[in-house]
Amino acid sequence: MSIETIAVVGGGTMGNGIAHVAAQAGKTVCLIDLSDEVLEKAVATIGKNLDRQVKKGLIDQPQRDETLARIETANDLEAGAAEADLVVEAVPEVPSLKYSIFEILDRVTGPNTILTSNTSSISITEIAARTARPDKVIGMHFMNPVPVMKLIEVIRGLATSDETTKVTVALSEELGKIPVEVNDFPGFVSNRVLMPMINEAVFALMEGVAEPNAIDTVMKLGMNHPMGPLALADLIGLDTCLNILEVLHRELGDDRYRPCPLLRKYVAAEWLGRKSGRGFYEYD
Ligand code: NAD
Repeated sequence: MSIETIAVVGGGTMGNGIAHVAAQAGKTVCLIDLSDEVLEKAVATIGKNLDRQVKKGLIDQPQRDETLARIETANDLEAGAAEADLVVEAVPEVPSLKYSIFEILDRVTGPNTILTSNTSSISITEIAARTARPDKVIGMHFMNPVPVMKLIEVIRGLATSDETTKVTVALSEELGKIPVEVNDFPGFVSNRVLMPMINEAVFALMEGVAEPNAIDTVMKLGMNHPMGPLALADLIGLDTCLNILEVLHRELGDDRYRPCPLLRKYVAAEWLGRKSGRGFYEYD
């Protein structure tokens, strides 16, 4: 089965990057969000990121324009997803929201459409159980920023078929990414390992062990990480980090995953990181 038309649900931090790489690989893309304002901002961001690729000589101007022309937008999930061969869902990391989106997608897409989720931590098996096609549901966990990062964590739910996995792996490669197959368990591999580190860095900050810049510098220079954990949390979005930790804590039932109270406080204050202009650091 070849994938030509892709619907991306959610035009936020991840959704615009996923639409970008899909269109750049020659796919017809419909980017769907509730808000027209988000969609306008997403298309503007994709345009700016493509301009940067032109400046670096990675693509030429006609390729930039063709990529952008392959992306249409919709504020109606049912209409936007109806023609898709494959859907990538990238709405906030809230289980009930994802379940309701998959129930709708199952109803409005063709019977052979593959439904994927960019979830960071929520069970693919549980999402798939909301549909009548659990064999065609799979995790496609892109990394941020999507146009730059090579990895896609491909997560098989309990009922995901070999054929669905094969098509998803092939599509990931067509998008210029490196797929790695993992099994369905809270946080998969990436966030099972990453989020406890970020959470611990926030505890260290809360307990006055060091200032944000010092914590990040220790991890960069001492552990050879390209970014410190607090700067990375700001890039991911502090609300997303909190949501992932809530899933890990609830699903694994172990207090070592309890979200740091300082992280909760920042999210309550809407200090969400780069996307709101302020998190552990301030941004223009
Ligand atoms: P975000 O908050 O930046 O964007 C989510 C978008 O979904 C928003 O624009 C919102 O308007 C839209 N939305 C909400 N409800 C909707 C609905 N019913 N229909 C259509 N659109 C709807 O979130 P994000 O950071 O892009 O995260 C999206 C998903 O990707 C989450 O599951 C997250 O865990 C995962 N993820 C995030 C990162 C990261 O670094 N931010 C990395 C990998 C995976």
